[in-house]
Amino acid sequence: MTRVALIAHDEKKADLIAFAQDHEQQLQEYDLLATGTTGQRLMEETDLEVERKQSGPLGGDLMIGGEIAEDKIDGIIFLRDPLRAQPHEPDISALLRICDVHDTALATNLASAEFLIEGLAS
Ligand code: PGA
Repeated sequence: MTRVALIAHDEKKADLIAFAQDHEQQLQEYDLLATGTTGQRLMEETDLEVERKQSGPLGGDLMIGGEIAEDKIDGIIFLRDPLRAQPHEPDISALLRICDVHDTALATNLASAEFLIEGLAS
């Protein structure tokens, strides 16, 4: 089954929820995982089932990165906040890097997320 990771920094969570609601029917078909707070909000505000990892600052990005290192994830939508420093910047860099190492599809903004979701459907 297609496995898709969803992560959004706090200022981007509303955008990710709206994106998930717009694509809810398609996302229902996928095995979804997310960092802790993102996953909680997705489950509260959509009907999607989401496997929740730790919150990002507590290691959730690294947990998702670990699955990418094992080639278990087909795509990741990671709406980063480019305007605020994050306490877990090293973890974020590690996640982006491991996506490139394993050639895993990664979207870090809504425009590329639309392409990614279309690509998964085709
Ligand atoms: P969160 O983590 O979903 O637990 O807020 C996201 C992040 O900050 O990387």
